[in-house]
Amino acid sequence: MIDITVKENIELRGKMVAVIGARKSGTAAAKLLNKVGADVLLSDQNESPPATKNLSELERLGVATEFGGHSEKIYASDMMVVSPGVPQNAGAIRRASEKEIPVVSEIELASWFTDLPIVAVTGSNGKTTTTAMLAEMCAKDKFTPFLAGNIGIPFSETVASILDAQPENGVHILEISSFQMEHIRHFRPKVAVLLNLSADHLDRYSSMAEYAAAKIRIIENMTADDTVVFNSDDLQLSEMIHTPAQLIPFALAGHSDSFFSVNETKVYDEANEILIYKKDVSLPGVHNLANFLAAATACRLLDVTVEAIQDVMQTFSGVPHRLEHVRTFNGVDYYNDSKATNIDSVKVALDSFPGPVILIMGGRDKGANFRELHPFLAGKVKQIIVLGEAADRIQESLSPIPPSIRAHSLDSAVSLAHDYSASGDTVLLAPGCASFDMFANFEERGDCFKQGVNALESQR
Ligand code: ADP
Repeated sequence: MIDITVKENIELRGKMVAVIGARKSGTAAAKLLNKVGADVLLSDQNESPPATKNLSELERLGVATEFGGHSEKIYASDMMVVSPGVPQNAGAIRRASEKEIPVVSEIELASWFTDLPIVAVTGSNGKTTTTAMLAEMCAKDKFTPFLAGNIGIPFSETVASILDAQPENGVHILEISSFQMEHIRHFRPKVAVLLNLSADHLDRYSSMAEYAAAKIRIIENMTADDTVVFNSDDLQLSEMIHTPAQLIPFALAGHSDSFFSVNETKVYDEANEILIYKKDVSLPGVHNLANFLAAATACRLLDVTVEAIQDVMQTFSGVPHRLEHVRTFNGVDYYNDSKATNIDSVKVALDSFPGPVILIMGGRDKGANFRELHPFLAGKVKQIIVLGEAADRIQESLSPIPPSIRAHSLDSAVSLAHDYSASGDTVLLAPGCASFDMFANFEERGDCFKQGVNALESQR
């Protein structure tokens, strides 16, 4: 067994480590472990997980693999690393714990092998957008940002890529999901950014409290040398923060301790100088202004210049599938917000437009309360088009106002939206649901929407 009580004393060389889950993160963890001299078994209960594509490379490296079930060998290991896709109550993890095999997450493992500062961003919504803003602000100044985490690049991969030479001015910028915090021990960011907390993933967690508790673990090892940047407009979030770390709020509503302040028309910096006119901020929606303030606050803690921050706030082009402007056609603006997979992101999307809006919603139900949308729809949304597994529940929750109609595919939803729209309207894809009932992921859903919208002319 490996003693992981003191991070500095952890020795993996020659030790047997089982990695559970052979998707991207698990495979990257296996390669990192191999690089630091551990004897690795990558094990997945699925017959042909994506890692099979990398099989020859893993074989060449000497990483053992097993697919289609976990063998007894995993319980002979000195440590287990779990990828974030594996639920906490999975049989393999329960048995490992019974046998007192230390179990850690992929993020935890990677954090043992880097000395660069870590900026970790979490929250229910805005993580990808904010981490991308942060990376761009850092890069505009003298820093070399390494973006990783939930964003699709495993932390283990970036850590492995600079294992031999860690660049001066390098900084890890991590997007952290609640799943990735489930098995941490020592993970300790220099700066943690807590964006907001709203109901999500209630399909994986039994309650909002359990979900929130998993997320807040990001700060559990932070000390007085570290800083928590948090959204003081979010009271539920603010009340959960108990830490010896320094606390710096960011807020749209104003807070005496925040670095930046906002009025009707402008944003001011720490010196009370105008940072930017709100009309010059590159992305729509007050939620994106909040994301910018979060990123800017974290950047100031790293000593990124105000000029670099200003520049990015004016020019940042956004991340695809997050309130992405697709096209203006016949005076109608089409927006792809395929990543709006929970109710809060649908609310902020609706808040970003004056209306009239034609809203396309639906997909795989994540147990959300669609009724919460009523105040955001009133007087703004003139037609809802529903699709996917959640279609009936959305219609039941929201009808009769605004009127709703069912589409059997996203393509037909786009043509219906086109039929219902008039010049000056906005057509918004903000599903409020996961995509897996009809698509491989939210990106495929967003791409399908964009194709449909871009094809509209030829249909006329
Ligand atoms: P995450 O990585 O947390 O899922 P994204 O940046 O990918 O966040 O955005 C997901 C969805 O949430 C998008 O629909 C986006 O428009 C919306 N969103 C972005 N920032 C916020 C915010 N601060 N509050 C609420 N919704 C947001």
